[in-house]
Amino acid sequence: MDIKRANDRPTKMAPEDNFTGQVWQDPVIVGEAPSRMRATNVSFTPGARTAWHSHPVGQTLYCVTGIGRVQLEGEQVQELHPGDTAVIPPNTRHWHGAASDRLFIHLAMSETSDSGAGTEWFEKVSDDDYNKPPAPVG
Ligand code: MN
Repeated sequence: MDIKRANDRPTKMAPEDNFTGQVWQDPVIVGEAPSRMRATNVSFTPGARTAWHSHPVGQTLYCVTGIGRVQLEGEQVQELHPGDTAVIPPNTRHWHGAASDRLFIHLAMSETSDSGAGTEWFEKVSDDDYNKPPAPVG
């Protein structure tokens, strides 16, 4: 058994090219073949978010704490609360991040493609797009 110790894995600041605002990443796992699993605990400060991006095999986001935002391109922004799970379809442009006035932490889970491809990154999310009101939570 391989126990990856927290002490050996400092929190990393997310790369500025692909995020707006301060975002911190705690690695959970990068699976070794035959596993294709990848999981990261991501902490967004208020107003922080990813750039537009897509995942070849989709992505599952589990909201751990705070209030978040997620949007598939062409759809309304959705609000995320602790215990919510958002399922992002494969090859679909989207973004996720914190509400403007709340921290947000989610566990991001995905798999690489058969050929080993991971996330594809696009442009940053504009303030106009980010500030659109989220759909009411049912
Ligand atoms: Mn994503």
